[in-house]
Amino acid sequence: MSATDPVENLATLIRCPSVTPSEGGALSALDAMLTPLGFAVERVTATEAGTPDIENLYARLGTSGPHLMFAGHTDVVPVGDAAAWSHPPFAAEIEGGELFGRGAVDMKGGIACFIAAVARHVEKHSAPQGSISFLITGDEEGPAINGTVKLLEWAAEKGERWDACLVGEPTNPDKLGDMIKIGRRGSVSGFVTVHGVQGHVAYPHLADNPLRTATAMMQALMSPRLDEGTENFPPSNLEVTGIDTGNTATNVIPAKAKFAFNVRFNDLWSAESLQAELIRRLDTAAADENLRPGRAPMRYDITWSERPSHVFLTRNDALVSSLSGAVESVTGSTPKLSTTGGTSDARFIKDYCPVVEFGLVGQTMHMVDERVAVADLETLTEIYGVFIERWFAHAAA
Ligand SMILES: [Zn+2]
Repeated sequence: MSATDPVENLATLIRCPSVTPSEGGALSALDAMLTPLGFAVERVTATEAGTPDIENLYARLGTSGPHLMFAGHTDVVPVGDAAAWSHPPFAAEIEGGELFGRGAVDMKGGIACFIAAVARHVEKHSAPQGSISFLITGDEEGPAINGTVKLLEWAAEKGERWDACLVGEPTNPDKLGDMIKIGRRGSVSGFVTVHGVQGHVAYPHLADNPLRTATAMMQALMSPRLDEGTENFPPSNLEVTGIDTGNTATNVIPAKAKFAFNVRFNDLWSAESLQAELIRRLDTAAADENLRPGRAPMRYDITWSERPSHVFLTRNDALVSSLSGAVESVTGSTPKLSTTGGTSDARFIKDYCPVVEFGLVGQTMHMVDERVAVADLETLTEIYGVFIERWFAHAAA
């Protein structure tokens, strides 16, 4: 049977230079692995004005439920300084028990292991009692407009329904088995412009310094803290990420001050309730009489990032316990159920079915000399294999 060796699967995928937005042969390679296993493979090209066309792939084995989805991406980030790599980034060379290459952990490795696990399952039991599908995008590391979102819409439109999803992103900080992600914080960015009146610093009564208010506004956003965290999430956190007046002269009061910030927020907030609280704080600071005695509240405007990421937490026992049980039975360690880290495509999938994330060790992702321990590929394949068995047994029960 083909595709049962995760190391071979990964080497094949790494040799496809699929830097976003290029398909690089990676989806064709997947097609060649999945079709012999019985998957119906479909290639879906997504387009949107102003962004590059992106090729994606959807493959399904089986026609009945329960239906388990594996989601991931074959695109990779650029190699950076290729000369700094100790092994060529698209050669998949093995040295000292490690396989080198861009995408080794983020996340061609996860895909290679899940395919191997499915291939072994098919070899042992023939097809599962239900369906397994792969939802693979080529646009996770890029703008993420022509990727998972559109692929999910396309599949749902033609009647696809899923009972659970596993995303194979590298979730382990130090060693395989450390961490499963069962949710993610939300993320929202704001861009504020404070409108003052330009003038000479020696004649401040003729001007109106926007920085007086802008600094108070930034302070008001940061303090008091938004919250103290929840059972499953760390405290929400706001970082000011940039300040600009366009002014270099110390004898000039600038006309405008602009600043930007980002908030990673927990499940005490929605994007909407958070924005309302932040605007309340900004309004209060803008009206502070002590900063600008006798003057009307400082005028400002704010725009928000177009698509905020919503916070989510997956409470689905069949999924979470099948996966953590599989990790435990193979590695002997109990994984931490975490909601830390940046956003991922799981934020889109959660609107369709319960979703969790588990993959390789993320330490070298996006770095020069991205690499994976060959032994980890075998271990992850075994974990995925046990997970598949347990999830279908649980879903059938
Ligand atoms: Zn990734």
